[in-house]
Amino acid sequence: MTKPSAHRQPTLAELAGKTPSPASAAPAALCSDPYWRQGQSLTAATHAQLPRKVDVVVIGSGFTGLSAALTLTRAGRSVAILEKDQLGAGASTRNGSQLGSGNQKFRVKTLIEMFGELKAKALLSEGVAMLDYIEELIRTENLDCHFYRCGRFRGAVRPAHYDAMARDMEDLHKFAGVESFMVPKQEQHKEIRTDYFYGGSVLPDDASLHPGLFHGRLVTRLREAGALLLDNTPALGIESDSKGFIVTTHAGPIWAANVIAATNGYTRGFDRYLSRRIVQVPSSVIVTEALPQKQIDAMMPAKRMYGNSARVFFYFRAAPSEPRLIWGGRAGRMVRADTPAAFGHLASDMLRVFPDLGEVKATHGWTGQIGYTFDDLPHLGKTPKGIHFAMGYCGTGVTRSIYFGHKVALKVLGSPKGRTEFDDITFPTHPFHFVADRAVPVFESWYRVKDAYS
Ligand SMILES: Cc1cc2nc3c(=O)[nH]c(=O)nc-3n(C[C@H](O)[C@H](O)[C@H](O)COP(=O)(O)OP(=O)(O)OC[C@H]3O[C@@H](n4cnc5c(N)ncnc54)[C@H](O)[C@@H]3O)c2cc1C
Repeated sequence: MTKPSAHRQPTLAELAGKTPSPASAAPAALCSDPYWRQGQSLTAATHAQLPRKVDVVVIGSGFTGLSAALTLTRAGRSVAILEKDQLGAGASTRNGSQLGSGNQKFRVKTLIEMFGELKAKALLSEGVAMLDYIEELIRTENLDCHFYRCGRFRGAVRPAHYDAMARDMEDLHKFAGVESFMVPKQEQHKEIRTDYFYGGSVLPDDASLHPGLFHGRLVTRLREAGALLLDNTPALGIESDSKGFIVTTHAGPIWAANVIAATNGYTRGFDRYLSRRIVQVPSSVIVTEALPQKQIDAMMPAKRMYGNSARVFFYFRAAPSEPRLIWGGRAGRMVRADTPAAFGHLASDMLRVFPDLGEVKATHGWTGQIGYTFDDLPHLGKTPKGIHFAMGYCGTGVTRSIYFGHKVALKVLGSPKGRTEFDDITFPTHPFHFVADRAVPVFESWYRVKDAYS
């Protein structure tokens, strides 16, 4: 892990390759430990012995796993959460923490073409319910984590995108009652001080939180409720027997009546059915040094979450308790992850939107794995072996993972409340699934070229 103090921090212009590094200077590096984990203790204090038997083994300690475990422990079930790394080491403490209503992945029209009007409407409405559920969970469990309904501005990178977004916002209101408004280019400085966008849309009910705090608070609630959290304990394989499942670990087997796989973009190795359905897509985030508060307020006067309308999406926000800029996007280049070179395109994008930031230093840069699916939809259900799963959030998973974790736990409990509109959607694989991970950088690069020239 790279500590920021041990290295020279690059300026954004240097990171973007716009100015050369000073000849005599030490090599530049960013802190690869996610900003969100500052002040969070991720090493499990529970040096618990592996139990011989529990009601449910949850594999993965991100939002899906913890949310599922909380619902199960609150219902009186014994739960062991197995994490192959540190607790929360996956995407849940590495993300941009923009919370949509779970329905922003497809245009409404596309969803209707795919499923018909009735089902599309039901999926959209459930998307809205997902975010309401999270707000309620934070309130009832007292998970103090800077959750705000701050709204999201999405900037159009082409004039035609603005028109398409306006049509989509109308559909969103018509079919799911979602409120939104359009901001024409001449008024966009009320939202964001840039001329880069051709106006944009605002979804005022979208939200943000501090993912490190949210994750830490969930861990605390789970410990209080008696769940066992076992870090550095990978699930190596799962066999079923007449009574349930045997999960193999380096420390021995655990018997469980049910198993939930909550491994999303890190799903490999322990179950073939799931590995064949998840494509691992790297995504990165960089953070700037603290700027004067006045400067941040002037850049983003509406204090929202922000993103763009391009194929290779970027997104940004101010940190919740410090005047830093947090900027994310896909890796998109065939360079080693977690190196300054890998973060160069994020710095370039940031300078396109805020050209005056060239001399500002970047402090943190990290990469995480998004779990993509072959139909761009998230999935939950049971594998042919009977393993429950919830995963495949395709990069918009903060809302979905917390909600799906809860739903899959309700399914394990046999509750009719576990039903969702996603239940009858088949989880597809692809004959060339085994090369999909390696093909991702090629597609990313191609999309960047298309974004630049279309
Ligand atoms: C850089 C980045 C930015 C993002 N930004 C946003 C955003 O702004 N908004 C949004 O909605 N979504 C965003 N996402 C997506 C979102 O973070 C994820 O969808 C969500 O956190 C998934 O949670 P999860 O619990 O399912 O998976 P994860 O948090 O990835 O957890 C899976 C865990 O499973 C563990 N694991 C894997 N295999 C095993 C095994 N065999 N045994 C034990 N443990 C195992 C992993 O180590 C990992 O800790 C982003 C993702 C990334 C990477």
